[in-house]
Amino acid sequence: MQILLVGAGLSGAVIGRRLAEAGHDCRVIDSRDHIGGNCHTSRDAETGVMMHVYGPHIFHTDDEEVWNYVNGFTEFLPFQNRVKATARGGVYSLPINLLTINQFFGKTLRPDEAREFIAAQADRTITDPQTFEEQALRFVGRDLYEAFFRGYTEKQWGCSPTELPASILKRLPVRFNYDDNYFFHRFQGMPRGGYTPMIEAILDHPNITVELSTPYTPDMASDADHVFWSGPLDGFFDYELGRLGYRTLDFERFTHQGDYQGCAVMNYGDRDTPYTRITEHKHFSPWESHDASVCYREYSREAGPDDIPYYPIRLVAEKALLGDYVTRAEATEGVTFVGRLGTYRYLDMDVTIREALDTAGVFLENMTSGREMQAFVSSPL
Ligand SMILES: Cc1cc2nc3c(=O)[nH]c(=O)nc-3n(C[C@H](O)[C@H](O)[C@H](O)COP(=O)(O)OP(=O)(O)OC[C@H]3O[C@@H](n4cnc5c(N)ncnc54)[C@H](O)[C@@H]3O)c2cc1C
Repeated sequence: MQILLVGAGLSGAVIGRRLAEAGHDCRVIDSRDHIGGNCHTSRDAETGVMMHVYGPHIFHTDDEEVWNYVNGFTEFLPFQNRVKATARGGVYSLPINLLTINQFFGKTLRPDEAREFIAAQADRTITDPQTFEEQALRFVGRDLYEAFFRGYTEKQWGCSPTELPASILKRLPVRFNYDDNYFFHRFQGMPRGGYTPMIEAILDHPNITVELSTPYTPDMASDADHVFWSGPLDGFFDYELGRLGYRTLDFERFTHQGDYQGCAVMNYGDRDTPYTRITEHKHFSPWESHDASVCYREYSREAGPDDIPYYPIRLVAEKALLGDYVTRAEATEGVTFVGRLGTYRYLDMDVTIREALDTAGVFLENMTSGREMQAFVSSPL
């Protein structure tokens, strides 16, 4: 079959590879002039530092099949994200752990003592938290909430934590030990040469052609037996029903001679610091050595029509509109919507790959059994 894959990010590349291996002709297009989607990495021309062009990306997963999959295309080196936070004139360890608690409150608590201490800080009058703020106050109390959650969340989402649902903060965001590894997953690492060479290797198959700087036009679909769409769901329908809300990011690049901040990611919790974090890219490749350094100051704001959509907002109004687009998509034949934009969900890379492998599997099964391919293998709702 002739398959058209819109988007040369992880979703398009992984689905394309599976279908190419099964003998189908895969045409992968992307409006950008590079492959890799938002995982794209490239060397900074001035300093030689490997840059995470669309923001910091750390690979972490519990899915052994996905881990083996990515390791089949590139070499991963061990990397654990250890984030720091500047707040109220101090520098603290994140996620909030025993070191953070002891530093912040000037104490020397052991795990059990810290557990008791935090329980005493927590606002027990809140029994049925509805908002992010209530949830945080119930878990950690006002001091930690204001230093580490409130300002950061306001900057990241552009609204008060009193307007965000409690579900954003699902479980106790505190560790009562000194574990400062940002992620819990068993497998964590960073591709030695960046993500783009990995995605290039995934796309490197005789049945795959890649066309860059090529935005989708509807006539392309008529040449294809099936389309996999990893662009924005509302974009497929020319935003006819309105735009799904996204947050976008502005990265302010600056260089520094030597080591600017001593770590890859420094969050800024105070409200009067306008950026959410600073990323120092060379710390993502600790096996490389560079005298100069490149950093991004990261600002978050509501995405306009010409901005890159980063984080789906998914509040009440968006969910209603999303439902309408899902109905439109389900009534559209020959197109399957995939990935973070196609299903309007925040997806980590490992989940993106898992879903792409599953989607390709469902497509191949459907072909064998003569069933129609559905619009969504992973539901956006
Ligand atoms: C700031 C940030 C940090 C992140 N950090 C991490 C992390 O640390 N760890 C982790 O696991 N995940 C992280 N992620 C998630 C990761 O970026 C996604 O999992 C991944 O990019 C999803 O791949 P995708 O192919 O679905 O989408 P994308 O990478 O967005 O690819 C979609 C592609 O489609 C193209 N496209 C769109 N519309 C059209 C069109 N009309 N015509 C042609 N092409 C089109 C786009 O140009 C794009 O290249 C992060 C995400 C963000 C926003």
